[in-house]
Amino acid sequence: MKTFEVPVIYRSPLISAIKNSRKQQDRMKKDFTPTTLDFGPLKILLARHFGFCYGVENAIEIAFKTVEENPGKRIFLLSEMIHNPHVNNDLLQRGVQFIMDTSGKQLVPWESLNETDIVIIPAFGTTLEIESQLSSLGIEPLKYNTTCPFVERVWNKAEQIGKKDYTVIVHGKPNHEETRATFSHSRFNTATIVVKDMSEALQLATFITGEKPAAAFDQYFKGQYSPGFDVEKDLQRVGVVNQTTMLATETQAIADYIRQVMMEKYQLTENNIGERFADTRDTLCYATNDNQSAVTGMLQVPADMAIVVGGYNSSNTSHLVELCEEKLPTYFISAEDKLLNAEELLHWDFHHKQELHSRKFLPVKDQVTILLTSGASCPDAVVEGVIRKLLSFYGIEDKADALTATFANT
Ligand code: SF4
Repeated sequence: MKTFEVPVIYRSPLISAIKNSRKQQDRMKKDFTPTTLDFGPLKILLARHFGFCYGVENAIEIAFKTVEENPGKRIFLLSEMIHNPHVNNDLLQRGVQFIMDTSGKQLVPWESLNETDIVIIPAFGTTLEIESQLSSLGIEPLKYNTTCPFVERVWNKAEQIGKKDYTVIVHGKPNHEETRATFSHSRFNTATIVVKDMSEALQLATFITGEKPAAAFDQYFKGQYSPGFDVEKDLQRVGVVNQTTMLATETQAIADYIRQVMMEKYQLTENNIGERFADTRDTLCYATNDNQSAVTGMLQVPADMAIVVGGYNSSNTSHLVELCEEKLPTYFISAEDKLLNAEELLHWDFHHKQELHSRKFLPVKDQVTILLTSGASCPDAVVEGVIRKLLSFYGIEDKADALTATFANT
């Protein structure tokens, strides 16, 4: 896979040494067991895959290069570059401005932009409406485009099946930038609806079967379907794609469920289900799959707790937290500064969107075992910072350097 020029501040010698060593031993990426870092009183089990994905590195490379190559120009990002505060703050400090916040609220009025400005499209992509807004201002919308190719692959699939008269069901968070972009591209070709989870998929099924009347549709899916959506006509042939960072198992479960509903409603078999349900299995993002599978692999090993590092508004990170929470006390932190001391930490409760202050998070025992991973937009340097901070609570921070040398020599 292509390698990118990512600023060295985001790299970590320790994590790079570990990742390289694992890669050498497992080139086909079949082994999802974690890497054991045994420091004596503290054992850290590091997920097999975590951190920057292809799309994030690609976006960072383009954005930083654009800043470097265009001194004196006004540079804007449509919204947050990726969902990580460190990367976004670094760009802000270099003079980059965000036109919108993550919820789509305008921060810089369109009318203040002109054709000499540079506008970067973030990794999530953007809507066709915003592309034409930029064009109307004389700004070439795709000149500085960091949309991830794996997101574009979803758009292409939606277009392909849309042109074959399938309605597109997008499994995603309706307000997430990527889902808004996918919805916009998809609805250009075909009827499109967003479902955010299995409970909404169950609701949608009641409209597919006719159990609920079309008149009630708006009550359940207001703002989540394309204009002119005809409940009776547009739910007869469907396909499911996803926001690439959703739980892969949930997308699969939703697709399997809708497929089964179509099979029963239209009395189809494995041989002719394609008449009503499009095959979209090849749209899942490799990084989301790898990171989630690595967490599942990590959770097979006994541990006391889990720490997941990433931006609080990062969708893919919250799904890693969700997986860990099913088995262990789990703390979602954005960086090492949230580990206040050996007794206290600040952590994000993504269910209720609030930061919590917890005490006595480290169990008192001879050896504490912590599972550690991070989201696809979190720099490895931040994960190393977390490891070093944890080691400092045991007075053994220097052990991190020795470990870097060990992995570098394997
Ligand atoms: S998580 Fe996947 S789709 Fe999203 S930016 Fe990374 S590689 Fe691209």
